[in-house]
Amino acid sequence: MKIIAVANQKGGVGKTTTAVNLAAALAEHGIKTLLIDLDPQANASSSLGADPADPGSLYPVLAGESPLADMVRPTDFGPLYLVPAELDLAGCEIEIARDEHPLERLATALEGLPGRLDPDYVILDCPPSLGVLMTNALAAADAVLIPLQCEYFALEGLSKITHVISQVGQNRRKGPLEIEGILLTMYDTRTNLSQQVVEDVRTHFGPKVYDTIIPRSVRIAEAPSYGQPVLSHDPGGVGAASYRAFTRELLARHGRPVAG
Ligand code: ATP
Ligand code: MG
Repeated sequence: MKIIAVANQKGGVGKTTTAVNLAAALAEHGIKTLLIDLDPQANASSSLGADPADPGSLYPVLAGESPLADMVRPTDFGPLYLVPAELDLAGCEIEIARDEHPLERLATALEGLPGRLDPDYVILDCPPSLGVLMTNALAAADAVLIPLQCEYFALEGLSKITHVISQVGQNRRKGPLEIEGILLTMYDTRTNLSQQVVEDVRTHFGPKVYDTIIPRSVRIAEAPSYGQPVLSHDPGGVGAASYRAFTRELLARHGRPVAG
């Protein structure tokens, strides 16, 4: 079981889009994957068409009232499973902050998962704020995948998140936290700025940066309103192709090459 947190404290950089489409692309390869939505906005949950009225949410897990495996829902996307978020998760931050070990709740809950669901991959979609929820994800993860929007302040934001990753890595039970990789998103071929950002990030972070770059695409932007990953919303488009290529790269780095 490999646990990957998709994180960046900057809002709107493509975290949820990346978490959802990575999870869906892994499932396309028949790889059992669990997506956990840690954002009270529940964008990842609705991007997979989850019905808020159905039972199962991360809240009772973090509150210590339910095993994680009991909150897992199936999805329409093969071996892809979901633990959805709900708006109340915001209140959960305040509630558990007073308890013992509030930052390792998810890590502890995930330890009970093998033997129940046994996913190959667990993908954690983080909220943009550096609060209890994101810290829980970083405390539980094996590695952090950082989506980075190709825009002017990208590098500045990147130094913030890498600092947070090393801080959490020094203080958690699981020990140092690795950077899984940096994924450049929302690349606009029409601007020199996007090109410049790509060059700068590659100069600073070298092989940590994936070769695949996710382009800006209307299809990617509209897919969540259909309750679908772009992989199924527009399976033949450039958005789907880029997320598939990125997923192949990630799997190859893990020594699990797949055809495509
Ligand atoms: P938040 O910090 O609020 O959780 P986020 O980092 O999860 O945001 P997303 O929700 O994935 O970011 O993306 C922000 C917005 O940009 C969404 O409306 C999404 O549909 C859109 N978007 C994401 N990736 C692309 C892309 N490659 N091309 C066009 N639009 C995109
Ligand atoms: Mg998000």
